[in-house]
Amino acid sequence: MAIRDLLRVAAGTDLAGIDPASTPGLPREARGDRKLWARQRVAEVGAELAGLQDRLFAAAKVGGDRRRVLLVLQAMDGGGKDGTVKNVIGQLNPQGVRVVGFGVPTDQERRHHFLWRIRRALPLAGYVGVFNRSHYEDVLVPRVLDTLKPELIHRRYGQIREFECGLANDGCTVVKVMLHISPDEQLDRLLKRLDDPAKTWKYNPSDVDARNLWQQYQEAYQAALTATSTVETPWYVVPADRKWYRDWAVANLLHEVLVELDPQYPQPDLDIAHEKARLLGKAS
Ligand code: AMP
Ligand code: MG
Repeated sequence: MAIRDLLRVAAGTDLAGIDPASTPGLPREARGDRKLWARQRVAEVGAELAGLQDRLFAAAKVGGDRRRVLLVLQAMDGGGKDGTVKNVIGQLNPQGVRVVGFGVPTDQERRHHFLWRIRRALPLAGYVGVFNRSHYEDVLVPRVLDTLKPELIHRRYGQIREFECGLANDGCTVVKVMLHISPDEQLDRLLKRLDDPAKTWKYNPSDVDARNLWQQYQEAYQAALTATSTVETPWYVVPADRKWYRDWAVANLLHEVLVELDPQYPQPDLDIAHEKARLLGKAS
């Protein structure tokens, strides 16, 4: 079964019913050292992804194919967004990748519509874009912190659906992934950040405030995911307590999407024999 079908958010999906330590779709052959198995598969799938990406890039550069892919990553702090970018997206050719992280809006960003900074960060034709956090922060945070009226948050859901549907119709395949971790795993990861000098810079005291609102954030995710998981731009929930499963699942999601897009190398209108002769100085 396609990994997309296993992880897709549908009408009855209940986030609370998804075990963050589970490994949906992991094949039987993965018995034994599953971590090692997954890492090897991620490397293999990554090589195929790179090949597909090369075609997508070439088709846009020369062939006029406007298609592109946008991976939207959402998660609680410590959910593995950075790790996914490094381990999965890191296998692609950086020339065709654009990764954009979204933090607390700046004063300038605040003066604009919440989709303003998002539109400016969209991938160009032929690119694989990655959003490390996204416009979804603008429906999650205000709901949890109660800084926006519920009807305005609902209006934003509608604006997001419309925006993303427009992208899909315009050749941008939007792949929305929530990395789903447990509070225990988050605690473990945040503590490690404090213990490891190479990771302490990632620790933000405000992460604890968000952690203390765990249930409210889960409810906000549940509401946002169900309101915006559409046929054109569905959400996928990736259980993410196990980093190796997370990487394997995201790599395979992207792989399925790119295989379906089936980008092709352009065949420019060239007289190859003539060009060869010219290169070799033998043209008549
Ligand atoms: P990080 O991803 O660790 O760099 O943290 C970014 C922080 O910015 C997180 O605490 C997000 O919740 C916060 N953030 C991002 N976008 C928004 C937004 N639109 N409104 C409020 N907070 C946001
Ligand atoms: Mg952080």
